[in-house]
Amino acid sequence: MSETVILEDNKVIPVSILKEAKKALSFYPELKDVHIEFKYKDNIKKSFMQAQPEFSNLFKGKENRSYNIYISSRFLIEEEEFTLSEVPSEVITGWLGHELGHIMDYREKSAFGLVIFGFRYVTSSNYIKEAERAADTYAVNAGMSDYILATKEFILNHSHLSDTYKERIARLYLSPEEILVLVNKLEEDLEKAEQEGS
Ligand SMILES: [Zn+2]
Repeated sequence: MSETVILEDNKVIPVSILKEAKKALSFYPELKDVHIEFKYKDNIKKSFMQAQPEFSNLFKGKENRSYNIYISSRFLIEEEEFTLSEVPSEVITGWLGHELGHIMDYREKSAFGLVIFGFRYVTSSNYIKEAERAADTYAVNAGMSDYILATKEFILNHSHLSDTYKERIARLYLSPEEILVLVNKLEEDLEKAEQEGS
């Protein structure tokens, strides 16, 4: 699973997601000269993938920065565990496209701005909303809307939410990450309510 390929000198990609990563990257010619490493990492908090600037070269100027996209080999929707091989190819492509959208957003920020960003991201839900919206907007503008929708539908179709609720979430224009967090939070709340016998 950890065997990697180096694409055009600056993209490090595990063979297992090479097809999807190439597809997603093809929508972002702006990232051609940007060094990006796709790596497996378990225990990504509450998500499937996560894009981050590489800290070791963060302060060496915008041009010299590199980025990591961490991918979990498994993730949860409600109580069901999914491994990467169970996720349809277009859903992986869409999710990678969303993460590349985060990188497009990070590129615009100063190093100091990114440090502040990281802090706000973990402390403010409004800030998360803003950052997630920015990533999806980049992905949609890059022409990836069908893939982004596929990722959202995949999560919603594997949850036990009512159709009315699913429609409401779909209307809210949430990012795949936000939907995943929301779906899993609702599941936890339900369980808690059941345990309390209400
Ligand atoms: Zn995101």
